[in-house]
Amino acid sequence: MRGPANDNQGETLQQACVICGKPQVKGREPFCSPRCQDIDLGRWLKGSYAIPVQDHDDDEDGMGELQQRRED
Ligand SMILES: [Zn+2]
Repeated sequence: MRGPANDNQGETLQQACVICGKPQVKGREPFCSPRCQDIDLGRWLKGSYAIPVQDHDDDEDGMGELQQRRED
């Protein structure tokens, strides 16, 4: 059994989806479907994970600053 094709409901636009190249759907620009939105979000998340973590030395410096709080 086939379910209703919800992916492309809505008015399509002239521009192509930035993920798959199908016509964009109005209200979902620049995508054609929630699926492509998810794919794009996944790329963003992977990109943020790819940012290198700070060195241990930097982290220790940060801790030192916290411990240098004045207590008078
Ligand atoms: Zn798409």
